[in-house]
Amino acid sequence: MSRSPSRPLRIGFFGGTFDPPHAGHIALASLALQTLDLDKILVAPVGIQPLKLDRPGTPYRDRLAMTHLALAGHPRFELSEADAPRSDGQPNYMIDTLHRLRAGLPPGTEIYVICGADSFLTISQWHRASQILIEFPFIIGARPGFDLGRIANALPDDISVAWEDAPDPHLLTLGLRDSHQRRSRLYLLPDLNHEVSATELRDSLRSSDPNPSLLPSAVLAYIRQHKLYR
Ligand code: ATP
Repeated sequence: MSRSPSRPLRIGFFGGTFDPPHAGHIALASLALQTLDLDKILVAPVGIQPLKLDRPGTPYRDRLAMTHLALAGHPRFELSEADAPRSDGQPNYMIDTLHRLRAGLPPGTEIYVICGADSFLTISQWHRASQILIEFPFIIGARPGFDLGRIANALPDDISVAWEDAPDPHLLTLGLRDSHQRRSRLYLLPDLNHEVSATELRDSLRSSDPNPSLLPSAVLAYIRQHKLYR
């Protein structure tokens, strides 16, 4: 579907460690693209994830290469180096990345942050969490049965929240407001059913090849060729 010229460009920003990228990531991005009618999703492996400093993981260049392979066949997903390692060796904070990104896009472009429900539960620990939430709408994917009340409970104290009417049961909306009466939204996708995690994959890769429905075969080939996760 092509965009009407009167509607602003809608870009998804999907950051993560992608160590390795897997079918759950692709499923979340695909559902977000389709449900919110996004024009494009930037998939950006993070240089240093501030909440995973105790777990250095696989080098950025390998995660970038694997993410490139995982995105093949998805023309509206674009690999992005917006969150590449910083030259000063400091962790990458999403608010800085989003501001840089916004500055390089046409004025009025809408940027949506895409995130899994489990990661979103840590939002209060993110650097300038309230500012990110107010400046950028989030799209959050959750498994069926996930207690969506936990999303509202995870918000920083200075953000108030109200459920909005949900004409579409596959897309729930939370209205947010901060103490300066600035408003934003969280879009919840409650039907995301992909029981796979990078942690489980790293464990299983030590002894066997995972099911191809969980890990793209080109990513598995890269992992074997570069002897990762041993
Ligand atoms: P790890 O197990 O190493 O922490 P992860 O996949 O949870 O890996 P990231 O690679 O940073 O961590 O994930 C990027 C984003 O994708 C996060 O917002 C995460 O919540 C989301 N995500 C990961 N797996 C799934 C899944 N199976 N379904 C939906 N979202 C997911």
